[in-house]
Amino acid sequence: MTHVTNQQEPSLSEDFDTDFDTDVLIVGAGPSGLALAAALAAGGIRAAVIDRLAEGANTSRAAVVHARTLEVLEPLGVSSRLVDRGLQAQRFTIRDRDQVLMPIDFDTLPTRYPYSLMVSQAVTESVLLQRFVELGGQVLRPRELTDLMQDTAGATATLDDGSRLRARYVVGADGMHSSVRESAHIGFSGGSYDEAFVLADVRLSGGVPDAEVILYFSPAGMVVVAPLPGGLHRIVATVDEAPEQPSAAYVQALLDARGPKRERAIVQEVLWGSRFRVHHRVADVYRAGRVLLVGDAAHVHSPAGGQGMNAGILDAMSLAGALNKALTGDTVALDAYGAERRPVAEQVIALADRLTRMATVRPAFRAWRNLLLSALSRLPLVRRKLAWRLSGLVYR
Ligand SMILES: Cc1cc2nc3c(=O)[nH]c(=O)nc-3n(C[C@H](O)[C@H](O)[C@H](O)COP(=O)(O)OP(=O)(O)OC[C@H]3O[C@@H](n4cnc5c(N)ncnc54)[C@H](O)[C@@H]3O)c2cc1C
Repeated sequence: MTHVTNQQEPSLSEDFDTDFDTDVLIVGAGPSGLALAAALAAGGIRAAVIDRLAEGANTSRAAVVHARTLEVLEPLGVSSRLVDRGLQAQRFTIRDRDQVLMPIDFDTLPTRYPYSLMVSQAVTESVLLQRFVELGGQVLRPRELTDLMQDTAGATATLDDGSRLRARYVVGADGMHSSVRESAHIGFSGGSYDEAFVLADVRLSGGVPDAEVILYFSPAGMVVVAPLPGGLHRIVATVDEAPEQPSAAYVQALLDARGPKRERAIVQEVLWGSRFRVHHRVADVYRAGRVLLVGDAAHVHSPAGGQGMNAGILDAMSLAGALNKALTGDTVALDAYGAERRPVAEQVIALADRLTRMATVRPAFRAWRNLLLSALSRLPLVRRKLAWRLSGLVYR
């Protein structure tokens, strides 16, 4: 792929074409790209979306939508549709086996959505896509971005079928390995965790409550047990080496070693499983001239706390407002977008990092950690602060 000619470079092409195919070209139709596309279309802005996949990934992946995400999606008319298809978990607890170290209640939060909405990423994407289509939009797929050139007036994207699209702005919503980010020479600083993450959507019996998300701390690594619609549970665990497809026996062994002890949670069936390695990286800037980044293209982090997709959707809604202003001449709004959202990504990484470190303290410090957390949990202010942070209301 050739690289974006940066707007500030002296070799700038002046014979640019000002005949635009679209105001905004969005590369990537994941949750961030689709939320942005729908928000732009709702504001009357022409937005074209391309994705290299022939159809959307039909898998579970990020399974929680937080209160703040539902609030910002409300003007698009999609929040009630998501709520109808999800399961409401009012409580989040951190536990060491059966001992509750930190109970966090969402049901007292001052929001119309006092819960974590548990819903598969495939459903979230389909609801956002449906809204974009209702607003007159369309995702062009399979279409891969192969080249991007930038000039003072706009940017020209070349696609894998040889066609070209001319846009005033281009948004990289193309995930962690973003070509848009690379082509704009934007660094992606950070590192990766040693552990792998294993995921499984399972049918469970006994052992865990139905409407509560539980994060079990354990010297062997953490495990999250979260309810999903349809009587299922999502299991996410950190392991040294994850199998490609976790079996029921594998997930059972994880729960037996790290989960509830008094009453065993029995894995009846694994319906979907996956594994992935996690990086913690943030793009050095969110804007380079007429190129902007959202979602995983701009930041990636551990799924502890379930913030990844939520942060991407919040980016998208913030960027929609900024592009709206930029297209009427206020380009300062585009820099304000990065100034507002980049620190949020850093906070999310810090929170996930703290949770990971606390989860895996050495056995000698385990009793001290549990004492400290139990003492802190008796302070309503601490519980309230955590509820505000996890639900995203802190970013209002
Ligand atoms: C197995 C798995 C499990 C996960 N579990 C969790 C979880 O439990 N909790 C959590 O918070 N997060 C989880 N995540 C992460 C979560 O899925 C992401 O944070 C989320 O998908 C980011 O959305 P996005 O729209 O920014 O990017 P993506 O969803 O990555 O979408 C990017 C899109 O861009 C397209 N694309 C890429 N390059 C090009 C190109 N050159 N031209 C055209 N199109 C292109 C891709 O096809 C893709 O559709 C998980 C991810 C995986 C893979």
